[in-house]
Amino acid sequence: MIRTTYKGRPIKILAARGNPHQRKLVINGHTVSHGFQGDDVAALDWFRLIIDKIDNNGGAGTVAMLIPGQYTEAHWYEPGTIDTNPRRHATLPGGFCMCTMCVIADPTGDKARYTPHRPDACQHCPQIRDGHNNMADSLNPHFYTDPTPTQRAGRQAFADACQPDEDDETMCDAVYHRILSGYLTRPQCLHFGDHRDARDPNFHQDQRGFTWPREAA
Ligand SMILES: [Zn+2]
Ligand SMILES: [Zn+2]
Ligand SMILES: [Zn+2]
Repeated sequence: MIRTTYKGRPIKILAARGNPHQRKLVINGHTVSHGFQGDDVAALDWFRLIIDKIDNNGGAGTVAMLIPGQYTEAHWYEPGTIDTNPRRHATLPGGFCMCTMCVIADPTGDKARYTPHRPDACQHCPQIRDGHNNMADSLNPHFYTDPTPTQRAGRQAFADACQPDEDDETMCDAVYHRILSGYLTRPQCLHFGDHRDARDPNFHQDQRGFTWPREAA
């Protein structure tokens, strides 16, 4: 029998009842195999291989995209370092699961199906303390638990990124009606939305200095 921690994940390797050549494999209290063929050393090697593979493929949220559908469950990760989205897939706090089930395919760019948790949401679910329904997740009934500093920081970073930046001035972004010779794309105006930074506010200007008249709105 082995009780250890590998890269933050608590691991137990137990003799399978009645079979000395098999092991029961437990990670974060979750049994992932009842009949692993091999001894303690082989079992620990297997855990290390999987966990290294997860971490080398971006960890929570990303590995599910790179190795489709795999390692989406929270028990594969260090407790307190991840969040669990409404589909029960692990994400980095403030991040997304990028598997096909958690992403909405859209021609204008794929969109995340679930928003990251609020900074003060529970350690185990998206609910906040006030009115936390302990039975909301029948597979994992629990009381509200304060988020870890890692969870709080990741969620806060996402919330901050969603706030409109006061310095983020609206730009003109006007686009010339055709591509010019020697250009790969149509010229785009670089001035502020009100053209106060333009030499002649009646003209748009792109990064190569090409100007064109600003039509009266
Ligand atoms: Zn997912
Ligand atoms: Zn909760
Ligand atoms: Zn302009």
